[in-house]
Amino acid sequence: MSCLALNASFEPLTIVPARRAVRLILDGKAEILEKDAGKDFRSERQVIPCPTVIRLVRYIHVPQRFKRQVTNMFLFARDGYSCQYCGRRKSDLKGRQFLTRDHINPLSRGGDNSWENVVTSCSSCNNLKGDRLPWEVGLRVRTEPREPNYVHLVWVVRKVTQTQAKYIRMFYGDRTLRRVSGGRVNNPLKIIS
Ligand SMILES: [Zn+2]
Repeated sequence: MSCLALNASFEPLTIVPARRAVRLILDGKAEILEKDAGKDFRSERQVIPCPTVIRLVRYIHVPQRFKRQVTNMFLFARDGYSCQYCGRRKSDLKGRQFLTRDHINPLSRGGDNSWENVVTSCSSCNNLKGDRLPWEVGLRVRTEPREPNYVHLVWVVRKVTQTQAKYIRMFYGDRTLRRVSGGRVNNPLKIIS
């Protein structure tokens, strides 16, 4: 079970394990906005309903940029699970092809693992490219790679529930909700339940 944590301003912050949310409530640092009916956390003294959305009691300042390591899980999510050279999605790949991390400027030529230098690439394009720069082999990166909004990525990867999506929509509106659901469907609520 995971719980959406909102700032005191109702700004959606991140997804936390339900246990951690319960701890915040017990410590008086958060209040429950939505709970999972029928599920409880029991301690010696009290019973706390399982929270699915909590709100922090005190406003916390969140820096806009998170310096996070680029993991493949987040990299693939940022790129919509599609190869940034040929455009094929994960579901379009055949046989032994799979998604990989490609360094636009290869590590062997001084490239690094920053968000701006890595893209999702299918194994075929990655093999074709080898230790060269994209234009040296006639490839072009479809979208200029940037550091993503980490919080939005967490929502993509963790798949928020309908109730949690309601709060994201309330604060950010439909466009963000559609973006974090990868624009895969017209009605994002369908796939993030
Ligand atoms: Zn490709």
